[in-house]
Amino acid sequence: MRQYTCCLALATLCASFPLSAAESLPGFDACLAALQRDAPARGVTIETFRTHAASITPDPKVVELLDYQPEFRTPVWDYLAALVDDERIVDGKRMQEQWAETLAGVSAEYGIPTAVVLAVWGVESNYGRNFGKRPLLNSLATLSCFGRRQSYFRKEFFTTLKILQEGHVDATQLTGSWAGAFGHTQFMPSTFMRVAIDFDRDGRRDLIGSVPDALASTANFLNDAGWEIGLPWGWEVSLPSGYEGRDAGRRAKKPLSQWTALGIRLANGQPLPELPAAAGLLLPAGPTGPAFLVTRNFDALFAYNAAESYALAIAHLADRLRDAPAFVTPWPTDDPGLSRAERREVQQHLVRLGYNVGEIDGLIGDGTRRLIAEYQTSKGLPADGRAGRKLLEGLRADTSR
Ligand code: CA
Repeated sequence: MRQYTCCLALATLCASFPLSAAESLPGFDACLAALQRDAPARGVTIETFRTHAASITPDPKVVELLDYQPEFRTPVWDYLAALVDDERIVDGKRMQEQWAETLAGVSAEYGIPTAVVLAVWGVESNYGRNFGKRPLLNSLATLSCFGRRQSYFRKEFFTTLKILQEGHVDATQLTGSWAGAFGHTQFMPSTFMRVAIDFDRDGRRDLIGSVPDALASTANFLNDAGWEIGLPWGWEVSLPSGYEGRDAGRRAKKPLSQWTALGIRLANGQPLPELPAAAGLLLPAGPTGPAFLVTRNFDALFAYNAAESYALAIAHLADRLRDAPAFVTPWPTDDPGLSRAERREVQQHLVRLGYNVGEIDGLIGDGTRRLIAEYQTSKGLPADGRAGRKLLEGLRADTSR
């Protein structure tokens, strides 16, 4: 399980918010010298250490990010709307064509459906477009010396040096999330060491420069996390009327036959499949929103990034890539979430109204949310800073005057 990672494709949870002025980090050089003394015992030669440590500069922002508490809440329907949008479905289908042979090979080798591998790729790095921009060694060296959980990050730091020592990835391209997740699959270095695969057989496990290596590594991760071949991740279901969600919980699994006996059916009204599988009832927005029965394969997705909304986004994107319909039951809100295209439109309207949004990228971080809150205040609306359907409609009306 990866900790401290977050999908770059969404980025509303982890990017684009202003930080206080970089504070100095006294003692970094001494800390780095101590790390160098430890290197041989960690499997890293002094030569490797010196080669790469020479260019390391501490990054105070990652220490702030370690303790970052989200300023705004993200409802699950906002999360899903941005991660499973038309763009990511269209892009995924294009990638499916472009990498058809590789994907077929990966699926045959590891038993993971092609659409699931694609969905992870699409959510983790937007199909290889967004790896994160922070030099990995700067982030991990800083977190090895400052802040909480230094021993955790030291292990990741030395593992990164081992990856470089073994020549798997190009050091100049080794950037990633603030916490050290990198490449197409956004693996932490220790996850790389555990499950990365050299699928194109060039002798390197290259999750930055090789799409085949990355896709196979994703499939190997899921296989290692307990994926059962041929089992669906789960199903959207409908609850019997008046059912209040007792027995709910991803881990509170029961045989499908027991759920059938409780009156649960597929969302389209059909009976649950007659499989000898156990599933847990997931109610991401309570009993009045979409409901799901999820199998152990959903748990494998959860292992990739420990959030149920994340696993649901992967699962649903995979289904949409196979032309399955959107969820039948609407989210319990009169103000649904926005796609990335609509988020870009929100940013464009704000610019037209004189707000300094910065790059129009569809990634709405805390900075943009503060501007939205300002705009809402100017309109006498509750200033929740949220980019939802009603905000977009209000902005459209405002800028068309
Ligand atoms: Ca390779």
